[in-house]
Amino acid sequence: MSKPLLLVLGDQLSLSLITLQEAPDNAVVALCEVAEEARYVPHHIHKIGLFLAAMRHFAQALREKGFQVHYSTLDDADNTHSIITEAERIARLYGCNEIRAARPGEWRLWRAMQQRDNPALPWRLLEDERFFTTPDDFSRWANGRKQLRLEYFYREQRKRTGLLMEGDEPAGGKWNFDHDNRQPIKAALEFPDLPHHHHDTLTKAALADAERHFSDHMGSVDNFNLPVTRRQALVDLHHFIDHGLANFGRYQDAISDSAPYLYHSRLSAALNIGLLSPHEVCEAAEQRYYNGDVPINAAEGFIRQVLGWREYVRGLYWTQMPRYKRANQLGFERDLPAFYWNADTDMRCLQRAIQMTIDNSYAHHIQRLMVTGNFALLCGVKPEALCDWYLAVYADASEWVELPNTLGMVLHADGGLMGSKPYCASGKYIDKMSDHCQHCRYSPKQVTGSNACPFNSLYWHFLETHADPLNNNPRMKLIYGSLNRMADEKRHAIRQQAEHFLNQLQTSPGYGKPCHTAGYAQPTSKANKESR
Ligand SMILES: Cc1cc2nc3c(=O)[nH]c(=O)nc-3n(C[C@H](O)[C@H](O)[C@H](O)COP(=O)(O)OP(=O)(O)OC[C@H]3O[C@@H](n4cnc5c(N)ncnc54)[C@H](O)[C@@H]3O)c2cc1C
Ligand code: SF4
Repeated sequence: MSKPLLLVLGDQLSLSLITLQEAPDNAVVALCEVAEEARYVPHHIHKIGLFLAAMRHFAQALREKGFQVHYSTLDDADNTHSIITEAERIARLYGCNEIRAARPGEWRLWRAMQQRDNPALPWRLLEDERFFTTPDDFSRWANGRKQLRLEYFYREQRKRTGLLMEGDEPAGGKWNFDHDNRQPIKAALEFPDLPHHHHDTLTKAALADAERHFSDHMGSVDNFNLPVTRRQALVDLHHFIDHGLANFGRYQDAISDSAPYLYHSRLSAALNIGLLSPHEVCEAAEQRYYNGDVPINAAEGFIRQVLGWREYVRGLYWTQMPRYKRANQLGFERDLPAFYWNADTDMRCLQRAIQMTIDNSYAHHIQRLMVTGNFALLCGVKPEALCDWYLAVYADASEWVELPNTLGMVLHADGGLMGSKPYCASGKYIDKMSDHCQHCRYSPKQVTGSNACPFNSLYWHFLETHADPLNNNPRMKLIYGSLNRMADEKRHAIRQQAEHFLNQLQTSPGYGKPCHTAGYAQPTSKANKESR
């Protein structure tokens, strides 16, 4: 008779999870805290606290539903501290004769599970059905297409799901309201405050354990305010739908010097660990549009992120791995700038984006793409260094969503599979979309000289360095036209300015590891915390 062990990973905290469906009465559910997963990149302390607290609450909810649950804590003496060996150990402990697991968030684990499958203790691997699409759906859509553009994938998902559809036509008469969604920040705007989540004894203990075990990682649990239960996640969802959604579209691309969240939903972490479903968040946004509470550009803008981008990057990840992770089309070799770990830079936009990351384990999309991402692109930071950083520092980071965004969208390392051109920009763009530059020691209007914004010379330097292959890109024709018309002396001065900047840029091969520039000691994480 079959007695399965149902392995539930830290980002599978949904009662609707396939693994938990049709579970026989004798099944044992396993949830495992393991050091290997917490340390393979130095995850932010909020992210570890989130996983520990949410997993412990989920185990409690499962027990209340009558499941038999084995929960391995970090402190258990017999914990093997690896997901695979821990699942096998628990299976043997309870006399289980198979392990069932849904597709995890990383190819690395999926592969390890496939490799462990054996007749003595089989691993039965199941498709994770909590998304709108499966990797097979994406594969079918991608089959035979030369370019895998989001827009076409997204339209197909709108038709398939009927979200914001009126018959065969998109609601509001257009598929895409991006054009209305590019308003820059205005100092006078007020942003909704976040709900404050109460920390019960389980949450307090989880945060204390995160701090005790991982005190060397970025961040402090003091200001931890992420939802760790389904109930708390629903509070965040309703709060966003009531107070953020109406302005979500308009200010989607804006950046603020002081406000970390603006009108963004901050739902990604709850979505990615399974406390919310993508279906319910899209339906909630759609309902508000049909109630007449929010404009179409807001509802469509939000739904495009979840139904479009989120599904699209997941499809790309699972159909392109493992070779995707090795892509580096522009041949970048630089280590990560050291200040990415401690925000110690006089470039205001970067200082604020990184400090907000240290404080909240969160930065909104445009900070990730056009500030930290854009700077790394212009400096030529190598994909593995940048990907490890994004994976470590954000509470919502899981490789299936982080990797395509970083390697494909930010670094253009996949040769344009994901984006038709690199998202490179000069200081002018940041000045237009944010209120950072008025607080900065550099001027976004100057390209050379000691007060010139470094983004400006780096921008032209990047275009010049990567003219082959980028000047063949039809979407970059205009900008290469400007570069080609530039006087030689100006080009030379810009090149020198950028090279000087890059030569003195201190880099670090990893968190807490020595920097490459002689004479500079990267502050330890403790020093980071004290200097804040
Ligand atoms: C370099 C880089 C790394 C990123 N890494 C991650 C990551 O590890 N995890 C992650 O969830 N998102 C990642 N993103 C996408 C996006 O930045 C975050 O989803 C978003 O900032 C989360 O904040 P929010 O919930 O307030 O999003 P909102 O702006 O409110 O958007 C609503 C939801 O749409 C989804 N979404 C929006 N943009 C994207 C996108 N480009 N890809 C996938 N889903 C999207 C998210 O689920 C998000 O919660 C990354 C983007 C970049 C440029
Ligand atoms: S001047 Fe340049 S470095 Fe300073 S905030 Fe503006 S864009 Fe950033």
